[in-house]
Amino acid sequence: MNALPDIDFILFGGTGDLTVRKLLPALYRLYGQGLLPASTRIIASARTGGDDDAYRTRMRSALESRGLPLQDWDGFEQQLCYQPLDVHQPDDFRALAHRLEPERTRVFYLSTAPALFSPICKGLHHNGLILPDSRIAVEKPLGHDLASSQATNDDIGRYFQEAQIYRVDHYLGKEAVQNLLALRFGNALLEPLWRREWVRDVQITVAEQEGIGSRGEFYDHTGALRDMVQSHLLQMLSIIAMEPPPSTRADAVRDEKLKALAALEPLRGEDVLTHTVRGQYLASPAGPAYRAEAGVHASSQVESYVALTARINNWRWAGVPFFLRTGKRMHRRLAEIVISFRDVPTSIFDTPVAGIQANRMVIRMQPQETMTLHLMAKTPGEGMRLQPVALNLDFSKTSQPRRMDAYERLLGDLLKGNLTLFVRRDEQEAAWRWIEPILQAWTTLGQPAQPYAGGSWGPAAAEAMLARHGLYWHTGLDPEEQTQ
Ligand code: NAP
Repeated sequence: MNALPDIDFILFGGTGDLTVRKLLPALYRLYGQGLLPASTRIIASARTGGDDDAYRTRMRSALESRGLPLQDWDGFEQQLCYQPLDVHQPDDFRALAHRLEPERTRVFYLSTAPALFSPICKGLHHNGLILPDSRIAVEKPLGHDLASSQATNDDIGRYFQEAQIYRVDHYLGKEAVQNLLALRFGNALLEPLWRREWVRDVQITVAEQEGIGSRGEFYDHTGALRDMVQSHLLQMLSIIAMEPPPSTRADAVRDEKLKALAALEPLRGEDVLTHTVRGQYLASPAGPAYRAEAGVHASSQVESYVALTARINNWRWAGVPFFLRTGKRMHRRLAEIVISFRDVPTSIFDTPVAGIQANRMVIRMQPQETMTLHLMAKTPGEGMRLQPVALNLDFSKTSQPRRMDAYERLLGDLLKGNLTLFVRRDEQEAAWRWIEPILQAWTTLGQPAQPYAGGSWGPAAAEAMLARHGLYWHTGLDPEEQTQ
């Protein structure tokens, strides 16, 4: 803690949804754990937050309504203040400048619409607020396609060096994803198995039960491929597929992730039609159909679900399918990575071993953060019958002290100046390079969004895509888990 400089943490979008639901609660919990130095000042800013007192009162009740215990609030609010600022008003940046102290490290967190990133950077620059040790954190989405992502990165890059830029993908802050790194590179056990000779396929699922809610207008210009696959799912894929980095230094890790992303086999033209499935949810007891949601065009073809088969063209992974899927209004909330190992070459037991849901590792991020190794073992008693068993690592039960939420970890790293868990520009652009031909083929060749029942696991075509490989999607509802 003593190593941290005195920090002014300037939070743009201080009245927004992300601030209220994630950022402020995470900062508050860091404070409660003694991980937010007393010298850190949080200067929240937006147009409608009022003054210091009004803002503190509003945030206190926001935290209370989210069920956070308020025993640390009185201390925390001493470090929290509010600066009214409209990013289009130059005078407002001058007022912000008066509030900042030159000897403190400035960390700017942009929790606003991406359209405001450029005016914020300009306002900071024109008022001399960016110093060589300043940092900037930006939320996804960064762009709508490669060109717009490059344009936003150029806008930020005019004023900040790459080493000052923290691109947030909160999946990278999750305990289970961190543990995947620990497991892969902290044990020699898995390394010989972590390759095409032993891995049959990899599945990455991020399923949400909720529909698009009030985000219709944003979502109908975005869709699941841009919103989720370009960022979270490809980031997880890169962590599974990357080679061992020489250290945990930020660029050592990010260099390896980039190589994995750059080795993704491009999907183009007709291949896109056979390797991707788009879907849209229908009306269900949980809510209206996608096309009937507020802000969505009545004949929209934008996908609320996408499944795809990716391949990585390198010596470790050639030939191993990586199946990715994500969707809204699905059967249950589930985010997990399933690494399935190859079947035994021949079984010496009476019990069939091939095709059973064993022989795989499941790294789950939602609803709980767990890691489970599914193996075959002997059924107790006489005879030699086998059954699937699960070696379970439940971080909610095993972790002491209390497990950190993703934003706590990422904000802590941002304050410490550790870039490892943030996305570098070239990684982000490599992801867009792979995504863009898919978007183009969908438009030019016409890949319709197929309807799926709200509350289901998505369109039948996604099941068929795996069935062609003799496989099926894992649903997180395995027999041994249901009985736990
Ligand atoms: P939001 O609720 O719409 O908040 C936007 C914030 O920007 C508000 O605080 C608003 O405050 C402020 N703002 C708008 N116009 C402004 C102006 N001219 N000058 C100064 N401040 C202005 O958005 P959000 O959902 O929190 O999302 C913020 C960012 O995080 C977006 O980039 C989003 O894509 C990303 N993100 C959000 C989530 C999420 O769960 N919400 C998840 C991942 C990523 P005033 O109206 O008071 O000015």
